[in-house]
Amino acid sequence: MSEHHVVVVGGGFGGLQLANDLKGAGVRITLVDRRNHHLFQPLLYQVATTILSTSDIAWPIRHLYSDRPDVTTVLGEVVGIDTAAREVALRGGMTLRYDSLVLATGATHAYFGRDDWEPVAPGLKTLEDATTIRRRILLAFERAEIETDPAMRDALLTFTIVGAGPTGVELAGIIVELARNTLPREFRNIDTRKTRVVLVEAGPRVLPTFAEELSAYAGKALGELGVELHTGERVLECTPAGVETSNGVIPSRTIVWAAGIQASPAAKWLDVPADRAGRVIVEKDLTAPGFPDVFVVGDTASVIQESGAPVPGIAPAAKQQGAYAAKVIRARLAAKPSPAPFRYRHQGSLATIGQSAAIIDFGRIKLKGWIAWWIWGIAHIYFLIGTRSRFAVAWSWLWIYLSGQHSARLITQKETMRDDNRT
Ligand SMILES: Cc1cc2nc3c(=O)[nH]c(=O)nc-3n(C[C@H](O)[C@H](O)[C@H](O)COP(=O)(O)OP(=O)(O)OC[C@H]3O[C@@H](n4cnc5c(N)ncnc54)[C@H](O)[C@@H]3O)c2cc1C
Repeated sequence: MSEHHVVVVGGGFGGLQLANDLKGAGVRITLVDRRNHHLFQPLLYQVATTILSTSDIAWPIRHLYSDRPDVTTVLGEVVGIDTAAREVALRGGMTLRYDSLVLATGATHAYFGRDDWEPVAPGLKTLEDATTIRRRILLAFERAEIETDPAMRDALLTFTIVGAGPTGVELAGIIVELARNTLPREFRNIDTRKTRVVLVEAGPRVLPTFAEELSAYAGKALGELGVELHTGERVLECTPAGVETSNGVIPSRTIVWAAGIQASPAAKWLDVPADRAGRVIVEKDLTAPGFPDVFVVGDTASVIQESGAPVPGIAPAAKQQGAYAAKVIRARLAAKPSPAPFRYRHQGSLATIGQSAAIIDFGRIKLKGWIAWWIWGIAHIYFLIGTRSRFAVAWSWLWIYLSGQHSARLITQKETMRDDNRT
């Protein structure tokens, strides 16, 4: 009998955990991803804000499995699934036959039907997004330095972030610190300390998924750093000139989108029911309805807990789901009963505010301030892959602490100052 073939689509947190947990299970694994790297998204905002380099938070998937002969890595984009033939279709025509299929293709930001805003208000999901945002931030300061029109200079020195979830809050905190601590000595014609960082949120408070007292602390800490909070304001329009909200126009040449979520099209590939964000509404064993050999895990799965609350779209949830799907596959291969239905265990919610404060919500225990920042920092270094990355990230943070200098301030990808903030 030929070996059971598990095709895993997506080398993110869910897909990697599954492949790791199937080590020694006697299966053949093909891990497909449209990118050649696994990305540690929780620190992506630090690449966008010039603290870290791209290679500090991403690793070639092929390298991660170099010592696993049972794992074959394929760089390719899945575009469809033929469930009758049990085949995954890749762009370019290649197909892969599976015995078990695991879809761990994640999610991306959503513009609530206004995808035309994306070019002026990029979101943060990939390394390319991070370097695009980094380029726009740095170019805005460069252009402001040579701008003679005061109104244009002010708009160049105004950075608007839409969405006050963890990513929006983290971006705002670091941009304001960059402008106030790192850049002032380097510019001659502008005072970068006068930079405006505006955080727009439709809801009544920042970090709405955190307990109210932590969210209030974060709002106050952001205000003290110098971030302008515009809560209760809906975005009506994003243009190259700025953001129009329900409360007026913010002239701003750099806009970053940190709101909304849209799952990968896994539900469409399978033609199964999805929730409003496009996530596959999975069975209790994380399989797609009607397809017991197809698992959907992580950000692209909609799982409702016993409490009625959805499992959050965060890395630990994706890892737990990947681990669970591996358990089910192992049990099936051993002809053992399936494990009990998937149960999510929340380990806590974390967010940072600038480079020296954070909030942590462990449920009964809530922490804030520098102690929370240290716990956040240690946890993130622990979860990085490999000693080199751990040292590189810890050293970058220490260097900023000692010198105030962000070392990854490179404008890359496009050579001229003709594009972005001005067009
Ligand atoms: C900016 C940002 C900050 C975040 N911060 C935190 C945080 O602080 N803490 C936390 O716990 N969570 C955080 N998250 C959420 C966390 O990163 C996700 O919940 C987690 O990555 C989900 O894992 P996943 O395996 O479902 O998907 P992902 O990790 O997104 O992996 C999906 C993989 O699938 C691949 N893929 C997608 N479509 C295809 C296709 N058609 N064909 C082939 N490959 C495909 C992608 O290239 C990717 O490698 C953050 C997310 C973002 C974007």
